[in-house]
Amino acid sequence: MTGAPVVRFAPSPTGRLHIGNARPALLNALFARKHGGRFILRFDDTDTARSKEEHVEAIRADLAWLGIVPNLEVRQSRRFALYDAAVETLKASGRLYACYETGDELDRRRKRQAARGLPPVYDRAALALGAEERAALEAEGRRPHWRFLLDHRVVEWTDLVRGPSHVDCASLSDPVLVREDGTYLYTLPSVVDDVDLGVTHVIRGEDHVTNTGVQIQLFELLGGPDRVPAFGHHNLLTTAGGEGLSKRLGHLGLGSLREAGLESLAVATLAVLVGSAEAVRPVASLSELAGLVDLHRLSRAPAKFDEAELAALNARLLHHLPHVAVAGRLAAMGVDGGEEFWLAVRGNLSVLRDAVPWWSIVAGDVAPVIEEPEFVAQAAGLLPPEPWTQETWASWTGAVKEATGRKGKPLFMPLRLALTGLDHGPELKALLPLIGRERALRRLGTPDA
Ligand code: GLU
Repeated sequence: MTGAPVVRFAPSPTGRLHIGNARPALLNALFARKHGGRFILRFDDTDTARSKEEHVEAIRADLAWLGIVPNLEVRQSRRFALYDAAVETLKASGRLYACYETGDELDRRRKRQAARGLPPVYDRAALALGAEERAALEAEGRRPHWRFLLDHRVVEWTDLVRGPSHVDCASLSDPVLVREDGTYLYTLPSVVDDVDLGVTHVIRGEDHVTNTGVQIQLFELLGGPDRVPAFGHHNLLTTAGGEGLSKRLGHLGLGSLREAGLESLAVATLAVLVGSAEAVRPVASLSELAGLVDLHRLSRAPAKFDEAELAALNARLLHHLPHVAVAGRLAAMGVDGGEEFWLAVRGNLSVLRDAVPWWSIVAGDVAPVIEEPEFVAQAAGLLPPEPWTQETWASWTGAVKEATGRKGKPLFMPLRLALTGLDHGPELKALLPLIGRERALRRLGTPDA
């Protein structure tokens, strides 16, 4: 690679991002991070009817949540002049030709081809139209759509994921680049932008492999052979059941995952590492994740996204997070127990907001559960004076054991139930000093002991 790479993520703002789109977004962003390159966010919003400003904003917010900060943002809807110029170039070189068939006519033609055992490839009938025939069709009220005249050859490239790859363009229909209403399909604007913005690496889903054959021909015509980027086509995420992810799967939307309280780093980690040679495991930062991403090591098989795996990864990630990584968010949730509290409870969390009830148990009102008032009162009488440390629990329960002869669960459970109102939770040796003597006495039912 000569010079710093330039990559782009190019969503159409016709919906929100889901975990499946997070994969190309992150593979591009982390590739740029790893190689000191630039990441462009390109909104493919040429379809002005279906593109929505609210989706543009949500996509920006979802990417920011993932920790992706674009170096540049462009909107295709502001760049039509460039696409129009490319259309003129292609027309002038005879590589874009006007076609007048309606959808129904093309359907009938495909059916006839199928009946004769032929592939459903456009037969280039419109190429043979003379000026008069075209004028006659236009006089009927038909407007042309425009097809790219493919060079019938095998286009080859070395894919960053899939290795040596090729598309035989002789087996493809000449693609429509401009619809009859003058609007653009995705194929041409994408290439024009990639040339104009100096994109060096196109990393996208393997559903685009065939497009790549066509687009390499366009790159060669519009940018020249030196401007053909490297391509990497990653495997697509499917649900655990093997179905494709679609925009309709709302609960796998990044917005929903965020609302469910998941860590963006867990979502990013799974989105990138699933279906790769790297084991899915918690990482401390996006930079660490960037170091693990290697396009060559992505599998060719579909990558199964399993929500249970995400939940488990999220919990494992939280169990190791240092306090600094969460202090701001905890404060925003009204949890201000500091590092000691965080270290006491993090191992019990599935999502960060699970810290809130634990904080209430430490500092708020608890409904103590006291089944054996005499035992609990006796224990209260043995509480040592403050200051309390992590050793206090052991010395206190040691004294209670000695005085009562109890041990194991009959010793500890009544104390846990009284102090926290629950029969499970973080270690009491960590919670007790946070609860403090005054609250502990109150919960043990003897506030003035
Ligand atoms: N808007 C296209 C898509 O979302 C972009 C594909 C590409 O990366 O070239 O499929």
